[in-house]
Amino acid sequence: MNRSIDATHDPNLRSWVESANQKDTDFPIQNLPFGVFRRRGNAEPSRIGVAIGDQILDLTRCREAGLLQELSQELQQACTAPSLNPLMAMGSEASSALRRRLSELLRTDGETPPPEEGILIPMPEAELLLPATIGDYTDFYASIFHATNIGKLFRPDNPLFPNYKYVPIAYHGRASSIVPSSTPVKHPKGQRKRPEEATPSFGSCQLLDYELEVGFFVGAGNELGQPVAIANAEEHIFGLCLVNDWSARDIQAWEYQPLGPFLSKSFTTTISPWVVTLEALAPFRCSAFQRAEGDPLPLPYLSSPQDTSLGGIDLTLEVLLRSQQMRDAGMQPFRLSLGSFQQMYWTIAQMLTHHTSNGCNLRPGDLLASGTVSNVQEGSQGCLLEITQRGTSPVGLPTGEVRAFLADGDEVILRGYCEKEGYARVGFGECWGLVLPTD
Ligand code: MN
Repeated sequence: MNRSIDATHDPNLRSWVESANQKDTDFPIQNLPFGVFRRRGNAEPSRIGVAIGDQILDLTRCREAGLLQELSQELQQACTAPSLNPLMAMGSEASSALRRRLSELLRTDGETPPPEEGILIPMPEAELLLPATIGDYTDFYASIFHATNIGKLFRPDNPLFPNYKYVPIAYHGRASSIVPSSTPVKHPKGQRKRPEEATPSFGSCQLLDYELEVGFFVGAGNELGQPVAIANAEEHIFGLCLVNDWSARDIQAWEYQPLGPFLSKSFTTTISPWVVTLEALAPFRCSAFQRAEGDPLPLPYLSSPQDTSLGGIDLTLEVLLRSQQMRDAGMQPFRLSLGSFQQMYWTIAQMLTHHTSNGCNLRPGDLLASGTVSNVQEGSQGCLLEITQRGTSPVGLPTGEVRAFLADGDEVILRGYCEKEGYARVGFGECWGLVLPTD
């Protein structure tokens, strides 16, 4: 299931797009993530592009120029669709064939071919949109460190529920309010009740938080009634992005029992615009999280030797914050946490397999997210609720400001990248959001 390492991962590959050859770029020729864009100020339909250095390769123009001719008609058509859904639906073999062709098109052996007219768009000239039409969105809770830290705040003696080590826990999120990076986030209102209050009131959320998560898009779907076996699960995953699951903690605390989060999460969810394929991540696969001595093994339907040995992804994740005051002073964003996706209790294959295990059908473009990514180490907690211990130990910013939770004017920036000796760095770009005041 894990895609293999091939010529497209060769660290010696160079592109004729010069910016793609810089060491610190997120988008070298070995990455080739897919997104959907529109030229700024242009009313044309959205189109599919591939990030390369600081440019976007326009797949519609590539097809018009005859550069995709060796691919099947169906695949060429999928490349010129207004969203990634048709390409996702074609499954992993089609996206592999396209990746190989794009790698050939973009590589240079020393001579720089003149690029076809209009085939590249500088990123600042493009508006990046949602990569897919997302039919359904499910958010998991796959970090045991996050689940334990949160559990401790509410139930110090018994932080984890007894199902946690058996069931990949999730709730069904709202797809309609998923927005691409750079979309401002309006501070939500809702019903909340402080413990010292006798009755709830309706008003602006007082405890606004972010959640650092990794999302993965479903590629080929499964039929209703046909579960996906763990051995095939990754064949149904197109690629990954970063997710900020903005959360209104006061609304959440009051509403979550007994059916889980609802309006505390559904006001906005931000995703990074580039979908990094599982193929691009092949060099960075690692073993699944090693369970502690005494923990139960996953039930057989959630276990395979391949997933145990290579089901993890060594993806480094960062959260940064910049307040209005920091912005006014020209300061750089301040890092709140640094961690890795490697320490998740459940793998992406286990999450997908569990989701379909009752026969539930997943469709191309559906988004599954990991839940907040926290590691065991200090400084790696993926939301303010954990970092500030529910607001009791606020974080200091370089301006002298403090944050227990987010304030209006705060920018939250998520970054993700994979680095490994002998391979080109593969980055995810940014998932960026600015909190705007309630009307
Ligand atoms: Mn979440």
